[in-house]
Amino acid sequence: MNVKPYPMKFVPAFKERVWGGRALERFGWRLPEGPIGEAWVIADHPNGVSQIANGAFAGKGLDEVRETCGTAWFGEKGIGRNGRFPLLVKLLDCNDDLSVQVHPDDGYERLPPGEQGKTEMWYVLDARPGAKIIYGLKPGIGRAELEAAIREGRIMDTLRAVPARPGDTFYIPAGTVHALCAGVLVAEIQQNSDTTYRLYDYDRPGLDGKPRELHIEDSLNVIAYAGSGAAHKSTDGARPGEWLELAASPYFVTCKGVVQGEWRLATTPDSFDILVVCNGEGAVRWADGAEPVIAGDCLLVPANLGEYALDGHMTVLRSRLPDA
Ligand code: ZN
Repeated sequence: MNVKPYPMKFVPAFKERVWGGRALERFGWRLPEGPIGEAWVIADHPNGVSQIANGAFAGKGLDEVRETCGTAWFGEKGIGRNGRFPLLVKLLDCNDDLSVQVHPDDGYERLPPGEQGKTEMWYVLDARPGAKIIYGLKPGIGRAELEAAIREGRIMDTLRAVPARPGDTFYIPAGTVHALCAGVLVAEIQQNSDTTYRLYDYDRPGLDGKPRELHIEDSLNVIAYAGSGAAHKSTDGARPGEWLELAASPYFVTCKGVVQGEWRLATTPDSFDILVVCNGEGAVRWADGAEPVIAGDCLLVPANLGEYALDGHMTVLRSRLPDA
């Protein structure tokens, strides 16, 4: 099958979550019933695969595109060490608090087979007034202090809570204790991994009525105790036509861009571009076609597409694989 590269749009895989809601309907998606917490918009993972919505691959899974087009479309480093697409992009509706959690890095010896670590970042699309996020430990909290606090039922006293406003961004390297809290809608860009260690779940029942499993020992093993939770910033300074860097990790580099009119861009053979449309509307154009885009759309622009342009009035996040 010889398909010319084109920017792909997606039909997400939706996930029911005890903390989810209905806010993802604002993007025009038809949600399954129940509290929907996650839309896996660009996903190639055993626990969720997103479907292509447009063009020659419409109706196919991202896994089939990988098998057909491989590194030509994804770039020379575009297949992760698990043999799949290297990143996972989600939109999350946090109608209630998420569990307090931490993710391991690639080197953790108790990772499930075939899994990798998880470094992630959030961009706050919307937030209720007063919303906050749990981001790192308070100063002076080491493993012994955290263990004691868990034993004594006062873990919340050891965690840093910071305000979350629309446009804020948080970088969460593996090892950072974190929790999204009620009232935020976020875009999440992460390593293609689904490994989470839960430290605390507010003593609440899960979707099946039973408390969700905690993973205290694994959590204590993988937490980066010193200096975590230091990369939270506002992104109000983004100017039209200039990329503002939000996070530079070994796995992805994510920037924010404000589109006002036409903005000419190009992919290079070493990486795809992932675009998340945060607000506004417009179009993506390339040599052979054009596609309208609205808030909530995520695009995967193949590495071998080359020149393309965004047009309209919108805010986008662009993620690429790092150069080095
Ligand atoms: Zn997480």
